[in-house]
Amino acid sequence: MAAQRLVAPEGGFREIAILRLSSLGDVVLTLPVVHALRAAYPLARLHFWVKEEFATLLRFEPALTHVRELEKDARRLEDLVSMSAELEDCDLVVDLHGNMRTRVLTFRQKAIVLRAPSERLLRERWVRARWTQPPRPHTTLARYAAALAPLGIAVPAAPPQLVAGEAAEGWAAEWLAKWGESGPLVALCPGAKHATKQWPQEHWCALDAQLAKAGVRRVVFSTGSERAALPELAARIAADPRARWCLEPLPRVAALLTHAAVAVTHDSGLMHLAAARGTRVVAIFGSTSPVLGFAPAGEGHVVLCRDEPCQPCTLHGRERCPLGHFRCMREIAPAQVLAALAELGVAAGAPA
Ligand code: SF4
Repeated sequence: MAAQRLVAPEGGFREIAILRLSSLGDVVLTLPVVHALRAAYPLARLHFWVKEEFATLLRFEPALTHVRELEKDARRLEDLVSMSAELEDCDLVVDLHGNMRTRVLTFRQKAIVLRAPSERLLRERWVRARWTQPPRPHTTLARYAAALAPLGIAVPAAPPQLVAGEAAEGWAAEWLAKWGESGPLVALCPGAKHATKQWPQEHWCALDAQLAKAGVRRVVFSTGSERAALPELAARIAADPRARWCLEPLPRVAALLTHAAVAVTHDSGLMHLAAARGTRVVAIFGSTSPVLGFAPAGEGHVVLCRDEPCQPCTLHGRERCPLGHFRCMREIAPAQVLAALAELGVAAGAPA
């Protein structure tokens, strides 16, 4: 990822826009770049452009001056062309998305525009042409950091740290106090956008049963539609006073995640959010793979991935296993997750 050197204006940049419109995990992973820009240009105004559904995540980030939310009904091409006028006062635009929308926003800007290398072709080779023995792609964090290389800014390799805000922190403390239960707390995050990134429901239920037997408190985090798709797990949680299901907004989820000893997740946005809140993660990978650069950032996490010959079969997930057997997920047993939890200090009794 070699880069041509650029020189900042005397006194540094004054108006900087950072573009990463989605998704949850990717927005979280931009934070080291945000912090590096703030450190390099302490007087600059930093504007972050993001879809409204993820904007709450950044609302309490002290390095940012302004979060520009893209409303759901204002993302058509003509809307973006007109919004691009708002970037005309910027002297630096850092595009960490590099999709059609951000290219429309940055088209014909006078500002210096820096983009993160996508390495998409390299990752596609891992999915479609592993026989060509491609080199390992960089992590998402490293690709984002590379966007600032032309300015000579070295982004620290430390994992992202997300600020949830005082209100959310207070809410989480009160919520836990009202619950009144004590003992180790495990976060279960059974959602993911695509079916082939989801561990089967029966495995989640078996894991939950073992954790319940060991007296471990559990909080399940998901969207409402994800909960509706997991009726057996929802029934288990509803029937157990030492378990709760959390459907709260993202800042509250972030605040509550910090109280968990470990989060069990898929390759999902909540995996990155938990890691950015300092919570260790047991991450279960299915049709994707950590080799694509998507593993949780930082130390102390456990990644469970079978490395099946067909894996990864997609960059971001599919609606069904093209081979029908879905071994990448089905054959990760609840016992392996329990063993990983034990490795991270959560004793959960006998394996399932
Ligand atoms: S088992 Fe193989 S082909 Fe099926 S979803 Fe998993 S990685 Fe893809």
